[in-house]
Amino acid sequence: MPEEHEILETLLHVKQVYPPPPQLVEQAYIKNYEEAYRESIADPERFWDGIARELEWFSPWTKVLEWNYPWAKWFVGATCNIVHNCLDRHLNSWRKNKVAVIWVGEDGQERILTYGELARQVNKCANALKTLGLQQGDRVTIYLPKIPEQIVAMLACARLGIVHSVVYSGFSAPALEARIRDAEARVIITADVGYDRGKTIALKPVVDEAIAKCPTIERVVVVRREASATPLKTPREIDWNEWLHDQSTKCDLVPLDAETPLYILYTSGTTGKPKGVVHVHGGYMVGTYITTKYVFDLKDEDVYFCVADPGWVTGHSYIVYGPLLNGATILTAEGKPDYPNPGRWWSLIERYGVSIFYTTPTAIRLLMKYGEEWPARYDLSSLKILGSVGEPINPEAWQWFYRVTGSSKPIMDTWWQTETGMILVTPLPCTPLKPGSAGRPFLGIEADVMDRDGHIVEHGGGFAVIKTPWPAMMRTIYKDPDRYLQYWNTIPGVYTTGDVCHKDEDGYLWFMGRADDVVKVAGNRIGTAEVESALVEHEAVVEAAVIGKPHKTAGEMIKAFVVLKQGVAESPDLIQSLKDHVLNTLGKIAVPQEIEIVSSLPKTRSGKIMRRLLKARELGQDPGDISTLEE
Ligand code: AMP
Repeated sequence: MPEEHEILETLLHVKQVYPPPPQLVEQAYIKNYEEAYRESIADPERFWDGIARELEWFSPWTKVLEWNYPWAKWFVGATCNIVHNCLDRHLNSWRKNKVAVIWVGEDGQERILTYGELARQVNKCANALKTLGLQQGDRVTIYLPKIPEQIVAMLACARLGIVHSVVYSGFSAPALEARIRDAEARVIITADVGYDRGKTIALKPVVDEAIAKCPTIERVVVVRREASATPLKTPREIDWNEWLHDQSTKCDLVPLDAETPLYILYTSGTTGKPKGVVHVHGGYMVGTYITTKYVFDLKDEDVYFCVADPGWVTGHSYIVYGPLLNGATILTAEGKPDYPNPGRWWSLIERYGVSIFYTTPTAIRLLMKYGEEWPARYDLSSLKILGSVGEPINPEAWQWFYRVTGSSKPIMDTWWQTETGMILVTPLPCTPLKPGSAGRPFLGIEADVMDRDGHIVEHGGGFAVIKTPWPAMMRTIYKDPDRYLQYWNTIPGVYTTGDVCHKDEDGYLWFMGRADDVVKVAGNRIGTAEVESALVEHEAVVEAAVIGKPHKTAGEMIKAFVVLKQGVAESPDLIQSLKDHVLNTLGKIAVPQEIEIVSSLPKTRSGKIMRRLLKARELGQDPGDISTLEE
């Protein structure tokens, strides 16, 4: 994989190590990583048992872990409900009137929900869900822009043991339809519109189109944000406010077995169909709770700002569940980092006194382009700890982020995946930092680097693996257990992450990107197969192959190679029509930036497209072993 080596070169050029700020270490929950780590993996079950006891359960577990490789059950026999620990637990404490969520709309509108108010909204929504006859185990699709109702709806489902499936509101109708069909959702909760850089994006028509072929959908609940409200077709379509209006603010919570599914979240894989990653109440609760607490050294006085959208896993684990489990004050803002101007996020940090700021390399690179004068205009002294997630952060962006925020706030480069549920490899506020490295495994986690045959790589490059189970691990791929098994069968005995990684002499892990056919555009995971299948649907296309190409801001961009049907001529209009087709099928994030028309694609003798070869050619690199090439 030449392209990985190339990145590796640039990453390893940065030799500077940043020691942790002593005053931060003094206050931190974990002051000595080596000691804490050694102790945690000497007996991981004891470690997780201790962490789980920091939360409230309705009845205890008989066993911390039942490991029937590769199937795991955590906190066996215990009953709990993640929402009890996100809300009810705090209502019985002084946090009752603490601010839970500060939401800022793209237009500057502000909504503040205390723990008490959030709980009342959640209870009303849960009662409203009951009026639709929904029960434990049913699935509800949530297709909402980044507004508080998204959080309310997720928690309301979880409160009743209903499984939520949040779909990012940037997906187009066919992508939404595929996710609703797979989940067999009975209800969809959506909004009339979302806003993006001042533009109004209509969502309801997307839902209408998506559900036209989804017979399982019984009701559509619509949050109407626009004054000129979208007309609704009763009784199938329900206005959110009316739905909640007469509901009680009290709603008994359903105690659940710890292994009860909490949500399905669809993520891209190497084949066309998205994978429904399943997470459960008990273990996920323990994993997201403790990582939020230790990685960000989260204290009650903090204001925690995570820029993710709950439509992705970061939003699930580190806007909604992890922070609420800790009783934190969360800032969440609709919109882009440079709208209405590139001071947007810095101004929010100043206004709300943000102390923890969790963002992405793509956003940092975007803000870098506008220059240091933007952050310099604002008072960022409230910041204490920074975070990055979603893709490797290049040292240049790391150092820029560090410098503009005051050259004293450590950056937690957190590595994890939709499937892992929680952060698995990360620095802690007490550990020395190497820009570009996600550091070492979190407590209780045995992450390592292996070669293809399962030998541990002492120093050097290989595949990132996790050797033992962890509480927030996915339990299966919805309706597709074989795809779950693949994670554990690729290298027998361990969980293969799909990432290539380098381990240095201090045991620091340097994640280099994906080993498989997954592209990360602006931190969003897109399967090359999904884009290819959208392209092939186009009437002018015979075959398509998609690769990821390095991109200055977005990390990677999509390039497509397309073989046209005989007689079809290449033209700018055709290229545009191909792009539009991907836009309409999958959404903006999946549209190839470059499309090249080719006469044929390189294939293996067994007929598989050799994307690796296309990529090597594109990047001017050595194609490596081509012995399997057909022609
Ligand atoms: P997702 O499930 O969409 O969050 O994507 C997970 C993938 O994102 C991982 O397999 C990595 O390829 C990449 N990733 C996430 N966090 C990091 C990080 N801190 N450093 C490098 N790659 C990351």
